[in-house]
Amino acid sequence: GKDVKRFKPGDHVGVGCMVDSCQKCSACEEGHEQYCAEIATFTYNHVDRHDKMPTYGGYSEKIVVSDKFVLKVPDGLDLKGAAPLLCAGITTWSPLRHWKAGKGSKVAVIGLGGLGHMALKLANALGADVTLFTRSAGKEQDARRLGAHNVVLSTNKGQMASVQGRFDLIIDTVPYVHDLNHYLPTLTINGTLVLLGYVGDLESMLSTVPLVMGRRSVAGSVIGGIAETQEMLDFCGKHGITSDVEVIKIQDINKAYERMLKSDVKYRFVIDMASLKAT
Ligand SMILES: [Zn+2]
Repeated sequence: GKDVKRFKPGDHVGVGCMVDSCQKCSACEEGHEQYCAEIATFTYNHVDRHDKMPTYGGYSEKIVVSDKFVLKVPDGLDLKGAAPLLCAGITTWSPLRHWKAGKGSKVAVIGLGGLGHMALKLANALGADVTLFTRSAGKEQDARRLGAHNVVLSTNKGQMASVQGRFDLIIDTVPYVHDLNHYLPTLTINGTLVLLGYVGDLESMLSTVPLVMGRRSVAGSVIGGIAETQEMLDFCGKHGITSDVEVIKIQDINKAYERMLKSDVKYRFVIDMASLKAT
């Protein structure tokens, strides 16, 4: 409407994972709408807090959303590659910023998928020394292209031993149950491992020894607030960072879903909504 001052017709804008929140709890007031005490309204498969209708996400030609939840996409950023920044980008940016990754810090990323490839790019651009933990040697070339300075095979005992006590921050993007005890000794004193991809009980049981004996932390994080999402987009605009994407037609969504389950995508699928008209 006419009261919207931050945007004008023709601007390139984006909507991320949230379209609304209570706007009055302490999390919202601090700009962390993703942790809203009344739970943010998510963009897809959620219920709108005003009209109680389901939210359908971006699988449409138009979306009506409060300007508070609209992000400006910097000029010059490829829109296809910018779309996943609003999810994978902010999910990795928020912990990198919260734990102050930058020049002089050592960051490791576990897993090279949609989240992992963004973590490598962003941590590298922030000036950190970046390492990828992976179980497959075949990922080394891609990892280095995306910003890793080092690659450690997590299945190789010798390589794991060589990085004990090394990392200030470990960005853990693994989306299934896995053993953190394997990685905690690679944190430096006061280091933090932050889980982004897995929600649930851990196996094996977490040993507190590396935590207690080094003031190390295990943490979690989900997406990011609106202000920090804009900060991330502006940073990406300045550094020319986008997500590596494969654009598909909406008609190929089931095939893409099957491939995603097999991790057969580099590194995000983006649906061209113009293809919706062809159905
Ligand atoms: Zn709130």
